[in-house]
Amino acid sequence: MIGGIQRWVETESPTQSTAAVNRMIDLVQSDVSGLPVKLERVPGRNGFADNLIVRNQAAGEGPGVLILSHIDTVHPIGTLAGPLPFRRDGDKLYGPGLFDMKGGAYLALEAFRQVANAGSAKLPVTYLFTPDEEVGSPTSRSLIEAEAKKARYVLVTEPARDGGKIVTARKGVGRFELKTIGVPAHSGARHQDGRSAIKEMARQVLAIEGLTDYARGVTTTVGMISGGTAPNVIPQYCHISVDLRVRDVAAGEEFEKKILGLEPFDPGITVEVTGGMNRPPFEKSAAIDVLFRHAQAVARGIGFDLQHTEMTGGGSDGNFTAALGVPTLDGLGIDGDGAHTEWEHGLISSIEPRTRLMRGLLETLQ
Ligand SMILES: [Zn+2]
Repeated sequence: MIGGIQRWVETESPTQSTAAVNRMIDLVQSDVSGLPVKLERVPGRNGFADNLIVRNQAAGEGPGVLILSHIDTVHPIGTLAGPLPFRRDGDKLYGPGLFDMKGGAYLALEAFRQVANAGSAKLPVTYLFTPDEEVGSPTSRSLIEAEAKKARYVLVTEPARDGGKIVTARKGVGRFELKTIGVPAHSGARHQDGRSAIKEMARQVLAIEGLTDYARGVTTTVGMISGGTAPNVIPQYCHISVDLRVRDVAAGEEFEKKILGLEPFDPGITVEVTGGMNRPPFEKSAAIDVLFRHAQAVARGIGFDLQHTEMTGGGSDGNFTAALGVPTLDGLGIDGDGAHTEWEHGLISSIEPRTRLMRGLLETLQ
């Protein structure tokens, strides 16, 4: 298993490098060759790589289990040769994308392989590998939703949390771009004629950050800012990118409206806002609770105690499927820490129990 994870991690696959992500999809495709499955490779579009759908229909063709894994990572090519080589240190395996989420995708594929070879799934199983989760799944979302609508359950192999906990609820995510347009002028000779886009944006940034309400689970973050052309020019333009997180659909609608409705403080300035909710909230429904309790019983049979986290702020493709009302369990991947950092790692001791948990789910869900 460690050797297999190493091969996947050493095939670097940052979302924006289409050829690299396609090499990773090639690798998955070659790893499932020889299994009793049907393959469908969906060509990439808009500069993103291909999706791969692997179907095991030993149990028929009706609604079944959908497994979701993204094989893109946030780490640029060269991370492996630079700050984050694949390495083992005690129980920890380090490497770009090892925790998020190649370790989890690899162990889920191993469980899928065992079940496909044994013909032991009670339901048809579809495994969808996607190329663009780390940038919000712009090209895979429609495919994920189409497959989820045909499924009875969805299992997502994002990383486990806090000592092996799985995920049964995630906040919804909104993304916005703001542009302020002012009036340029020479900062010495014509200062009074200018209208500063940066000064206006400074006020907008404080207004947006001020929408954060921890008690309601709402956070707003201005994560990027740029503007101006030179120190001696009253700036004409300024841009920011905004991230919004909410617990429920109503809050998503309310705060989307607030951000899209921002007005200029200075009437001499134009404010343009685009964007909206990207991932809907993944709320723990009664059906998700039933599915979680089932997983807990499977884990108990294997010999470990499975818990779930409180609602997490990070979004995933599970948000799309849970919002469609399809019972979804997430965080079924490898345990570890440091997603998206140079100390990203998975725990070797979590590989076997979580492979058995995934296999147990595929063999008992009906
Ligand atoms: Zn991920």
